[in-house]
Amino acid sequence: MDKYQILLYYCYTHIASPDEYREEHHLKCLDLGLLGRIIIAEEGINGTVSGTVESCCAYMEYVKSDRRFTSLDFKIESHDGHAFQKLYVRVKPEIVHSSLRHLNPVTRTGIHLSPKQFKELKDQEDVVVLDVRSNYEHQVGRFKNAVTIDMENFRDFPEKMKELEHLKNKKVLTYCTGGIKCEKASAYLLEQGFKDVYQLHGGIIKYGLEEGGEDFEGKCYVFDGRVVADINKVNPVIISTCYVCGTLSDRMVNCANPVCNRHEPMCEACGEKMEGACSEECKEHPEKRPYDGTGSYPKELNGYDPYLHVKRS
Ligand SMILES: [Zn+2]
Ligand SMILES: [Zn+2]
Repeated sequence: MDKYQILLYYCYTHIASPDEYREEHHLKCLDLGLLGRIIIAEEGINGTVSGTVESCCAYMEYVKSDRRFTSLDFKIESHDGHAFQKLYVRVKPEIVHSSLRHLNPVTRTGIHLSPKQFKELKDQEDVVVLDVRSNYEHQVGRFKNAVTIDMENFRDFPEKMKELEHLKNKKVLTYCTGGIKCEKASAYLLEQGFKDVYQLHGGIIKYGLEEGGEDFEGKCYVFDGRVVADINKVNPVIISTCYVCGTLSDRMVNCANPVCNRHEPMCEACGEKMEGACSEECKEHPEKRPYDGTGSYPKELNGYDPYLHVKRS
């Protein structure tokens, strides 16, 4: 039985003193032995952490007891250990780097759909399913028939509006990993004159948990040690291809050459043959790391201090 959980959550809400709150929140996470990444801003909180089931329960209680976070919804996944090596709790100007700081999803955003509502709506006539994630994410997995955007970073979303112009009069359903990008992306679509905008509340992760992930093709890119997560238990398919040989593969690896470190799907056979490298050049690189069949190379913990920035003793 899995004794660990991975929590994914966000909440747009006003946090008057982010620095002060960061300190309190950080200490709480240290007490509970949680690892992961949490961003605190004046506009809210965004986090993903791992810990034992008991720690995660205690953490969720702590967060939900704060009236600022009543609308916060935890996505809870089971796991066999920690999904992170470190804990970072940081203050930033935004909880998702977006170039859309002027938009406040608390006042205006697309209509939230539960995973069940999303499933019922997504194949209807005149409905467009829009993936608001970046290239490396939708390349390894996306909803069947979804419109994807060719962008490296969510910051570039406004620049891609021209590509979406023809969808203006459709019913647009946006989705992302856990729902947070959709808050701003759907708000932006409304600002740009789109009339009928909805968003998948809780994102792909919640859809996998509640609706079995039906019609999500490939795997879901996640921002923890798993790299990708299985979502679809109903009708799963593989959509990504091996970077080296082009056969279908959803095994994500980092190139064994640390200077390249390219993150791409690579089939098991190519992994063996190339010793985890993405090209002949990388295979011959003097700093190439030994390939153990996983294609992941945990970062050194050198110099990591869990109490970094904590003022109180
Ligand atoms: Zn291959
Ligand atoms: Zn490489």
